[in-house]
Amino acid sequence: MILGPNRMFRGTIVAHAYAAVAKTLPALVQRWARSGVGNAVAGRADRMWAALFGRRNPLFQVIAITIYCVGLAIFFLCVAPHIPNRYAGMWHWLPISVTLVANMGFYAAASAADPGTVTPDNARAACRVFPYDCLLYFRRNCDTCRLPKPARSKHCSTCGKCVQMAEHHCVWLNNCVGLRNTRWFVGFLATFAIVCVYGAYLASTVLLELRHVLGLASAAAAVWDDDLGRHVALSFRSSLLYVLDSRPLLAVLLVLLVVMAPAIVFFAGYQLRIVMLGYTGNEETKWLNVADAIHDGVVFAVRESDDAPREVIRVIEEEDQPADLRPRRPITHLRQVPNLYDRGPWRNLAFALFPPPSAPARKTHTG
Ligand SMILES: [Zn+2]
Ligand SMILES: [Zn+2]
Repeated sequence: MILGPNRMFRGTIVAHAYAAVAKTLPALVQRWARSGVGNAVAGRADRMWAALFGRRNPLFQVIAITIYCVGLAIFFLCVAPHIPNRYAGMWHWLPISVTLVANMGFYAAASAADPGTVTPDNARAACRVFPYDCLLYFRRNCDTCRLPKPARSKHCSTCGKCVQMAEHHCVWLNNCVGLRNTRWFVGFLATFAIVCVYGAYLASTVLLELRHVLGLASAAAAVWDDDLGRHVALSFRSSLLYVLDSRPLLAVLLVLLVVMAPAIVFFAGYQLRIVMLGYTGNEETKWLNVADAIHDGVVFAVRESDDAPREVIRVIEEEDQPADLRPRRPITHLRQVPNLYDRGPWRNLAFALFPPPSAPARKTHTG
């Protein structure tokens, strides 16, 4: 779902799989539902879907917190009592505690913080945070809020408000991610990746430790072999399976962490990458549209007037091109289009971590 819309994968199996899962399948299910169960039931299902995903509700937040708490409870029941062990020292308690507390704190902050709502009071100030590039963003009002729409903002239909530097609406946080909470979101993902990888490591040391505790690591450990009709030495692999069999909760935790860790590490890296490249999840789609427009041959570097200091990038639709007499040069590749909001990877990261204060101090005239 993350990679599917990416231009990199256009025309490949990834894009086709994405189209099948995200578009074809839901359309088929809807058509089948309408023909099979009738419009009344399908209508009710639509309303339920709208209630679940169309407006803010804590369902996915509750699911996320429940899974987290279950994982944490198993950790304290099955892993914590065996630390320290012969593979992991007492000192591990310090980094794992700090990371867990930070992770929960970042989650709470990302969920509760205002993502950067545009209000009648701050709309004018919000419009000054980023300039309009007249390619992705134009000076206009939001059709729903009726407020000036700052560059890089997006109206979230789930939250029912415009959000500055909108990243995306996250159902797991039950909140939008935007200018004011991207830092908590990035902090949450980074620490969650560490929690999963570190947790998997500590759970593995306990698995190895229990081999010794249960006497499965000794040279005398043997198992009856029916085929040979005698005892044979217990293999390393079998000894691990014996431990997992006798500690099912530890097995559940290990599976949970081993499945989740790569996904979370990938997603944390992906999020960090787009922050450092100077765009948002919302703008990724917009840049794809620009790439499409370049492909269609309607993007130009235009000199707005004879005395204009430099060229600007504009989309001029085919039907408007004969009437538009401004001197122009066709753009043939996305690389030729500068991203006005990209200030270099480290400054982009610093901006996301330390966004400008929400209410800029009013200039007072003294003397
Ligand atoms: Zn709006
Ligand atoms: Zn939202």
